[in-house]
Formats: sequence, structure tokens, C-alpha cells
Amino acid sequence: SAKDNGKNDFQIFMPFMLMKNLKKIEIEKNLKKAIEEDQFELYYQPVINLKDMEIHSVEALLRWNLPGKGMVSPLEFIPVAEESGLIVKIGEMVIEKAFSDIKNWERKGIDYINMAINLSVRQFKTKFFVDVVKKLIERYSVDPQKISFEITETGAVENFDVSLKILNFLCQMGIKFMIDDFGTGYSSLIYLRKLPIGGVKIDKSFISEIESSKESRAIVEGIVLLAHKIDLKVVAEGVETKKELEILKEIGCDFAQGYLFSKPLPKTEVEKLLIAKKITV
Ligand code: C2E
Ligand code: MG
Ligand code: MG
Ligand code: MG
Repeated sequence: SAKDNGKNDFQIFMPFMLMKNLKKIEIEKNLKKAIEEDQFELYYQPVINLKDMEIHSVEALLRWNLPGKGMVSPLEFIPVAEESGLIVKIGEMVIEKAFSDIKNWERKGIDYINMAINLSVRQFKTKFFVDVVKKLIERYSVDPQKISFEITETGAVENFDVSLKILNFLCQMGIKFMIDDFGTGYSSLIYLRKLPIGGVKIDKSFISEIESSKESRAIVEGIVLLAHKIDLKVVAEGVETKKELEILKEIGCDFAQGYLFSKPLPKTEVEKLLIAKKITV
């Protein structure tokens, strides 16, 4: 507490904490309402297979359409949702919407598409997570082979044994796991490899530097080389320029996503891209 850090901290710390908590409480209250009133929507961003330049999958990205405020970024409310535990409900709703959408696309003949879904640690380490996923897979009769869950390095390695159990179970069902924002945590591929993961998504902070920095390019090249040696796929996040794309192809990166191809789009808009299967850049 502030008191343990010395009595002078108290006066400085207190107003800040109060403001922070008020904001948090307000967001939390609004989040509860948002769940009840279904103010959430999934946007989808295409992921391109660099071997044939066709769309391989879409990543589901959560948006909160807060009345009077517009679209709120997940970066703003996911931390509050996690802390309050509301992420469990929200996360379940995300999976349900994503499954329902992939099924609808299949019915319309778009049957090649795979779906990536982000998970928060708190969400995938709850007791019933595995049961919820199983239930939803059955309810929507989704092919588990088409689903990949994205988790962060930190989330994957903390409580390693719990992670291992959950990942093993879902992998046996055919679901894949990818490590999101790879490179921003502290874990090595060697350690992550002890988990049944399918690959890594290199954080956009490295990708945005591969043009200008030899070191960043070398790091990305090294990750791809090592990942391939241990049978992992690599996705590059946040690809914004043609030059970055060129370098990633040269390096042998498997997949790429980013504004160069498409921003995250509402489902009716992404559908047009999925039908075309290719995006001209
Ligand atoms: P993420 O999973 O790493 O998603 C990639 C983020 O990068 C997305 O931000 C996406 O819009 C953005 N992005 C994509 N291409 C580019 C690009 O070329 N340049 C730049 N600058 N950015 C790009 P977004 O949609 O704001 O999501 C932020 C984060 O929120 C996600 O990062 C993910 O960690 C989290 N998130 C999103 N949806 C969910 C969800 O359903 N559940 C959970 N637990 N977390 C979610
Ligand atoms: Mg992600
Ligand atoms: Mg990421
Ligand atoms: Mg992230």
C-alpha cells in the first residue's frame, strides 16, 4: 500500500488512485450494461498466406460500440474486464459470435477460411473454459481445425502446468494455439515449445522497424529460422508497407496481416474480401 512506501507518498498517491478507481468503476458499470445490451461487435482482419498471397484466416478483434461515445478500443476496456472478471462472460460471447460468423460464411460457400480468436489469461485459465469451448464447438458444429486461439507469452508461461493441461486438451480436439505479440515478453521459443503451440505472431513493433533497422530485421529473421526448425509457423503483425512485405517474403515468414492488406472490418465488409480471396496491394 501507499503507506508502506513512506508517509509522504500518501498525499501524492491518493488523488491519483481515486481518479483511477472512479474511471475503473465507471467503465465496469458500463461494461455490465454492454453485456446485457449486447453492445459488442467483432471486426475481422484478414491474414495472408505469403506462399500464395491468398487470405488464410481472419483475426476476430473486439469492438465496443458505446452509445454516445462510439467505438471503444479493446486496449481501453480489456484490462478492466480482466480485473473485474467480466472478461469471462465477454470472452465467451466473443467465441460464440466468431463461431456463428465462421459458420455463416461456410453456408455462403466461403468454406476455406480459418478463424483466430484472442484469449485473455484470466479467461482461458478459468475452471469451465474448456467445457465452454467444447459446448460452443458442438452447438455451432464448427470444425476445430479451423480455429486458433491467441494467447500472450506471459499468459502462456505463468502457471505453466495449468496452461499445459488446458492447451493439451483443446489441441487434442484439433484447435491450434498461437503466441501473440511474440518478442515483447521474456520467454524463449525453447521454453514455449514445451507447450503444444502451432506458431508465433511477431509483434508489430519489430515489423515496423525491419525496413530501417538491420537489428530488427536480423531478429525477425532469427525468429523465423528458429521457429521453422522446431516446426512452428510465423505470422507477422502490423505489416504496413510493400517493402516490409518484400522483406518478410525474403525471410520466409509464413503469414502476414496489417493495414497494407486491410484494417479490421465489420463482418459484412470483410466478407467481400473473403469472396475475392486475394487482396491487391
Ligand atoms: P492483437 O491481438 O495483437 O491485435 C492486433 C492489433 O493490431 C489490433 O488492435 C489491430 O487492429 C492492430 N493492427 C492490425 N494491423 C495493424 C497495422 O498495420 N498497424 C497498426 N499500427 N496496428 C495494426 P486492436 O483491434 O485495437 O486490438 C488490440 C488488442 O486488444 C489486441 O492485440 C488483443 O490483444 C486485444 N483484443 C482484441 N480483441 C480481443 C478479444 O476478443 N479478447 C481479448 N481477450 N483481447 C482482445
Ligand atoms: Mg491477436
Ligand atoms: Mg499482437
Ligand atoms: Mg495483444
